Amino acid sequence: MFPDPILRKKCRVVRRVDMDKARELASDMIETMDGAGGVGLAANQVGALQRVVTLHIPGDDEAIVLINPEIRDTEGEREIVEGCLSFPGYEGMVKRSITVKARWLDENGSKMKITTDELIAQALEHEVDHLNGILYTDHLLAHEKLVAAGTYMEDDEPHMHDVELEVHADHSDEGEEPEESDIEVVHSTIKFSDLYSESAVDQMRYDLRREGFLAEESESVASEHSHSHTHTHDHVESDDPHLDGGVLLDPEHKH
Ligand SMILES: [Zn+2]
Repeated sequence: MFPDPILRKKCRVVRRVDMDKARELASDMIETMDGAGGVGLAANQVGALQRVVTLHIPGDDEAIVLINPEIRDTEGEREIVEGCLSFPGYEGMVKRSITVKARWLDENGSKMKITTDELIAQALEHEVDHLNGILYTDHLLAHEKLVAAGTYMEDDEPHMHDVELEVHADHSDEGEEPEESDIEVVHSTIKFSDLYSESAVDQMRYDLRREGFLAEESESVASEHSHSHTHTHDHVESDDPHLDGGVLLDPEHKH
C-alpha cells in the first residue's frame, strides 16, 4: 500500500533459472488480485522485486501471467479514470495511450506479444509502470487530484470484494480412499473490505495529502473528521467537570 517505499523500486528481470519461482509468485498474485477484485497486479505491490505482472480482464475466464513485460510502442492519447490496489478507495483521471504494443513471457516461458487498446492497454501501461517504480498518481492530469472511488463512474463497483470460499477438508487416513463422511465442507468468507484498518486508511489519506496527490479537505473527508472528533470528545467525558479523561481541565492551570 502507498506509501510503502517498495512501490518506488525498480523490479528485476526474471532469469530463465528463476522461472519456477516466478510461476509460484504469479499464482499467489492471481489469488490476491482476484480476491481484491483487481484488474492487474505487479509483483512489487505484494513485496517482491521481480518483473512479474498478473492481469484479469473482467469477463475473461482466466487471469494471465506476464513475466518481463515490455511496452514496445504506443499510439495516441486519451484521458481515463484509473484506480490502483495500492491506493484502495481512490481513483483519479490520468492520461494513457490509445493503442499499446507489448511483449512478455507467459508462465511457461513462451514468448507472447499483443497490440491492443481499451482496458488491456491501460492495464499494461499501469502494471509495467509499477515494475519501474512509477505510480498512476504520477500521471494525474495537472488540474486533477485523487477522489473517492466511484466519484467518476456511478456504476463503479467497489474495489474490495469479499470472497466466499468452500474448503473440502479430507479427514481420511493417509493412503485410504476417502468416504463421504471423511470430507468436511467448510464455508468461509474473506472480508477484503476489512483488510485495511481505519487507522491505515487515515494514514494513507495523510500521506496522499502531504504528497499533493489529494485535494485539500473535501466535504466528505471534513465531515468524517468532525464526526470522529465528536466521538473522541464523548468518549472522555467525566462526571467530575475538572476531570476529562484523566486530564485536569482547570483553566487557571493551563500552560
Ligand atoms: Zn496499481
